[in-house]
Amino acid sequence: MRTIVAGLAAAGLAACSASPPPAQYPQGPVVAGDRSVATSRSQQGPFKPDYYLYACTPNFSNRPSTDSNGRILNYDALVVAKGVILAASPVNGACMTSGFGPRYGSMHKGIDLQARPAVPIYSAAPGRVLEVSQQSGFGYQVLIGHGNGVYTRYAHLAYFDEGLAPGQKIGFGQPLGMMGRTGNATAIHVHYEILTGNYNTPKKSWGLKANNPLDFPRWSGLDKTS
Ligand SMILES: [Zn+2]
Repeated sequence: MRTIVAGLAAAGLAACSASPPPAQYPQGPVVAGDRSVATSRSQQGPFKPDYYLYACTPNFSNRPSTDSNGRILNYDALVVAKGVILAASPVNGACMTSGFGPRYGSMHKGIDLQARPAVPIYSAAPGRVLEVSQQSGFGYQVLIGHGNGVYTRYAHLAYFDEGLAPGQKIGFGQPLGMMGRTGNATAIHVHYEILTGNYNTPKKSWGLKANNPLDFPRWSGLDKTS
């Protein structure tokens, strides 16, 4: 088993070096009519999503379908959720250690992404920071609202980026903090969620619907900007 895992990881690294260039986020407004979110390219950060995402190992809970090299078939660098263009993975150089769906009798509402060493985590779309907090389960976690009832959560961070605070506008690909293992985490990784619904209820983000990032349609401009 150990040999197989090492082989998969090596294949992933080799394939990554021959990957197409990272995806570019589109220029201009991404949520028509919503003035609460950042829309200017000048507000973008340095992040460019990886073109491919690999499964870390041959077996884990909710593992999505892959090709023989472990490349996840349903992954697209940029996807569209209710009109909002989002990165399906908010980190570079990571692989998936757990997928979306029922797991050990509870619901895994996101995907787990791991990198060695730990890597920075970035905003998956322009929006407004809603939560920068510490939770018993999620540890240091960030929630961003992107307009149109679309939200993203990033959990188990080692620390937050300096100056990150609720209420501020944020562009695509801005650093949020460093991958870590705060809260209920057995290893360094980021737990990433794409949520939909209405934040303005007593339950706040805990009442939102969790979605599988791999289920959203690919952004149609993905291959036109690289
Ligand atoms: Zn998770």
